[in-house]
Amino acid sequence: MTTLREIEIVGGGLAGLALGLGLRRAGVPATVYEAGQYPRHRVCGEFIAGLDEATVTPLGLAPALADAARLREVTWYFSNGATQRQHLPAPALALSRYALDARLVDAFTAAGGRLVTGTRVDPDDAREGRVWTVGRRRAVAAPWLGLKLHARGLRLTGELELHLGDGGYIGLCPVEDGRVNVCGLFRQRPDVTGQRGTILLAYLRAVGLGALAGRLAAVEICDESCSAVAGVGFGRGPSDGQLRLGDAWAMIPPFTGNGMAMAFQGAAHALGPLVAWAHGETTWADTVRTADAALRKIFTRRLAVASALHPFLFSSKHQRWLAAAARARILPMRALYHLLH
Ligand SMILES: Cc1cc2nc3c(=O)[nH]c(=O)nc-3n(C[C@H](O)[C@H](O)[C@H](O)COP(=O)(O)OP(=O)(O)OC[C@H]3O[C@@H](n4cnc5c(N)ncnc54)[C@H](O)[C@@H]3O)c2cc1C
Repeated sequence: MTTLREIEIVGGGLAGLALGLGLRRAGVPATVYEAGQYPRHRVCGEFIAGLDEATVTPLGLAPALADAARLREVTWYFSNGATQRQHLPAPALALSRYALDARLVDAFTAAGGRLVTGTRVDPDDAREGRVWTVGRRRAVAAPWLGLKLHARGLRLTGELELHLGDGGYIGLCPVEDGRVNVCGLFRQRPDVTGQRGTILLAYLRAVGLGALAGRLAAVEICDESCSAVAGVGFGRGPSDGQLRLGDAWAMIPPFTGNGMAMAFQGAAHALGPLVAWAHGETTWADTVRTADAALRKIFTRRLAVASALHPFLFSSKHQRWLAAAARARILPMRALYHLLH
């Protein structure tokens, strides 16, 4: 019997755990090194758009996603009061990261994967067989701040609400146990301050979404779920001959609800080249090249379209144009969805 080479995965988020699970299902030895612990809340809108069967099946993700809510409609709220309903061509899934990451950990370890938590691998320690799924880059100069909390007792006006303010946008998405995920991306401002849940409310008021802040002030905020991340950078990660997946390969703006699907899709596309390497059929350099080329093929267009649209969501001037186009029914929602997913 041949001994297969082991794959080491640095970063136990969605890309890393899904890749580990896929490798174990293919019989390849895999270890995931994770700096943190499980379960834990993460800054994320917890709304998965554009995930396809061709990704779910080879990675064995179906059981972890089986009871996720299926959402068919997004209601956009523009800062001038206009609204636009968007029917999704395929249902989006909604499930907390607290639950999803824990389920993937269980599936990976049950499949024989080795998980090492509380261990931060040196980012300069690159080696053959090592895959980097370390998540978003901390870009010191980036002005973006991500804030998230779970609320209980919050009544939604649609299946999923997306509110655009002047300098930030925020999604409201129902997850499990009667909780609603409230997660926003804001242009960071030194004059807006607060603790845990209150900082999100302060940002909502600062970007002109006071009515939404009022709705949140009237319901229970799940204190342990409040999380924040500053210096979020978008776009491609470094191309330095290392195999990177998920946000470490590229981070798409969160309004698309596609970052989690991209983490899974990246893992699914890297699976074949990595299994071949584990069997000794290819060199590591060819493995990295093949996986990277596959990712560029599927992600380049959606990243470009998302970064072109992103500035429109942050200024009320641009939103007036979007709202007018929506009212005139000339906003090509369906075409944009397909370009972005
Ligand atoms: C405000 C905001 C809202 C979002 N909303 C959505 C949404 O609604 N839908 C959606 O699809 N996407 C959303 N995203 C994006 C989504 O969260 C990411 O695309 C997704 O988490 C990427 O998964 P990943 O595995 O690449 O990274 P992560 O899930 O971030 O995992 C990376 C892991 O690597 C670990 N790590 C880092 N460095 C090391 C190291 N040196 N050694 C060991 N471990 C390390 C970290 O601890 C972490 O656990 C949002 C992002 C933001 C900022």
